[in-house]
Formats: sequence, C-alpha cells, structure tokens
Amino acid sequence: MKARMTAKAAEHRLAAAGLEATEHRVRVLMAVGGTPYPSSAPEILDAVRAKSDINRVTVYRILDLLVEHEVLNRLDLGDKSRRFCLREDHDDEHPHFHCTRCDRYLCLRHAQGILNTEGLEGLEADIRHVDIRLEGVCPACRSTT
Ligand SMILES: [Zn+2]
Ligand SMILES: [Zn+2]
Repeated sequence: MKARMTAKAAEHRLAAAGLEATEHRVRVLMAVGGTPYPSSAPEILDAVRAKSDINRVTVYRILDLLVEHEVLNRLDLGDKSRRFCLREDHDDEHPHFHCTRCDRYLCLRHAQGILNTEGLEGLEADIRHVDIRLEGVCPACRSTT
C-alpha cells in the first residue's frame, strides 16, 4: 500500500494542484496521505493536532479545499460521517472496501472501465463523481470467527 507521505511529497502535490503549500495544508495532507485507508475527519484532526496548534475549522476548511482541487477523495457515508483519502492523481476516484463487521474502509486500486455507463447514453449525463463501494468482511475479522 501507500507509504507514509513526506512533507516534500505533500508540498509537491499541493503545487501540482495549483495550491500554495502553506504549513497547515502540508500537515493536513500528510495526515491523510500517511494511511492506506480513508480517515475520518476527527482522526485527521487528532493526527494534525498532535503536531501543531491548529483549530478544527481550519482543518475542515483545508480538507474541503483539497477535495475541491482533486487532491483528496471524500467519501460521504450517509450517516453524516465523512472520510478522506489521497488520490494518486487528479482523476483517481478509486473503489473502496467496507468491512461491515469492524466498519473499516480500505482503498482499492483505481480500475479503469469498471462501470458500464451504456444506460446513460442519450441522457447527456455529466458524471462528476464516482463512488464504488464493495462490502464484506475483512481478513482481520474473518480470522477471529
Ligand atoms: Zn473487519
Ligand atoms: Zn480511498
């Protein structure tokens, strides 16, 4: 899976997205990029706050900015909870695996052409966002049954 994101990699990624690499943005991006699974907003907040004095609103604002600039994916999970994970590149809307037993999410590799959008032909649909979720039981949970 993805390695921990360095400050340098975070700065590079921000620059590529046309964003100024402020200290706070770098810290938020490193917190999200440091895990191979999508993190919840409170988890990100804890990780960033462990190293820097930054308020909640600022962190949430940066998360929204990074989603807007296609640096991060945002998973809206219905129960008002949101999780964030890193995009390998700007169009990396990869699928996720959700363990229904421990409620953990895993990022899967981006798969080109996983969808058949034939049904949308003639509807002039403009697809803005792809959200594919596979549900089941993760290996850790399976081994404990
Ligand atoms: Zn599990
Ligand atoms: Zn992901």
